Amino acid sequence: MTQVPLAADATSPEAKVAKVTQPQAPLCEPCSGIQQNWRRAPGHAELVQGSNRKVDRGQGQATLTQYVCDRCGTAWVYENNKADQHVGWSVVSR
Ligand SMILES: [Zn+2]
Repeated sequence: MTQVPLAADATSPEAKVAKVTQPQAPLCEPCSGIQQNWRRAPGHAELVQGSNRKVDRGQGQATLTQYVCDRCGTAWVYENNKADQHVGWSVVSR
């Protein structure tokens, strides 16, 4: 009568499949009007600004600023990078 350690189950691949992708809540009207990934595109009045941080993008530093929409709760991040025209607003997965 040998006991199998329970810990063996926890390391099986099946134990790690539990991560479910949550469906994204629909964007409210002003949020859906934001042009994503375009430098200096405007946000909208109901975005509440959060913290910001600097990241190294190789060609220079960029600043990421977090926003949360007061209307629909969508989390946004705005990247300000002088070297890249194709960054700007993007939705953060929640
Ligand atoms: Zn919104």
